Amino acid sequence: MTERILVTGGGGFIGSHLARYLYSKGDFVRVVDIKFDDYIKEEYCTEKLKLDLTSREKCYTATKGMDKVYNLAANMGGIGFITAVGAEVMHDNVLINAQMLEASRKNNVERFLFTSSACAYPTYKQTDPHVTGLKEEDAYPADPDNFYGWEKLYTEKMCEAYQRDYGMDIRVLRYHNIYGPEGTYKGGREKAPAALCRKVAVAHNPGTLTIWGDGEQTRSFCYIDDCVRGTVALMESDFDKPINIGSERLVTIKKLAEMIIDISGKDITLEHDLFAPQGVRGRNADITLARKVLRWEPKVSLEEGIAKTYRWILEQCQRDKLLTLELVSR
Ligand code: NAD
Repeated sequence: MTERILVTGGGGFIGSHLARYLYSKGDFVRVVDIKFDDYIKEEYCTEKLKLDLTSREKCYTATKGMDKVYNLAANMGGIGFITAVGAEVMHDNVLINAQMLEASRKNNVERFLFTSSACAYPTYKQTDPHVTGLKEEDAYPADPDNFYGWEKLYTEKMCEAYQRDYGMDIRVLRYHNIYGPEGTYKGGREKAPAALCRKVAVAHNPGTLTIWGDGEQTRSFCYIDDCVRGTVALMESDFDKPINIGSERLVTIKKLAEMIIDISGKDITLEHDLFAPQGVRGRNADITLARKVLRWEPKVSLEEGIAKTYRWILEQCQRDKLLTLELVSR
């Protein structure tokens, strides 16, 4: 049976990939966003609505007639953005999430999914680059590293309250560093993999590349196709507690940069900006629970995923004429 599905934030990175997948399966997919990146060129949804979901009324419009809601809309960005911007992130996201929950309840949405983040995990569990993977129960006692993470944790609790008080059917996942093509790669909101791909794409050959921090900070990265599969698997499952969607392969930011340089074939030397924001020292995901209850784990290797991402960002940079110097010298 065709389902009527809403993807908020569907003009952005994960939401547009998710909408494309659901639409390709024949569902009625309504995409709502305050802006549309339009990186995906083909038709990827049934209906597009441009709405600001900090408005209560617009949340009612968005959720009307929907069976399922994937609530991805958020005012967010990479570590540079979420370190610099606190009030706006908390204000917008708490409004979007609280009102989307209430509007979904009032409009009798059957199931609601909220996308939380690894940023919800406490700083004291992430002080070592050789960190062990974060398990779902590690979120408490709470001490997120930034305001964005606190808002995610607050909304997780709000979802729990709606489950308990209203019996609402809710799914909550915690993404860990999702990356891939057709996402933000410039402008200040891009995340580390996209930022590094762009920097390598526009670097001279031979040239230099500045990475934030000493490069020894660690993360794990999950490719967008795996993320979409995990997101849908959770929505379709009976599991109603927060769950990690991410990779368990820990790499240093330096190693990630070197991988991208190798793919580019350029001769690039790394330099460091020790005063730039770096976030926690080490962060990894433990996906034991996702393996068990969703039978999900990532399939795309970092090498394969980063190669695809680099190629796409290189094309965008060429199109943007960020490579003017190189193009002129050809
Ligand atoms: P994104 O910025 O590409 O997508 C978010 C979308 O929300 C954007 O298109 C934005 O325009 C939209 N939005 C912002 N304010 C809005 C408003 N007032 N009304 C309507 N739409 C609004 O980011 P993404 O990476 O696709 O993230 C999707 C979700 O996943 C977010 O909730 C994010 O917090 C969460 N998440 C992402 C990651 C990651 O690594 N990408 C990690 C953890 C959690």
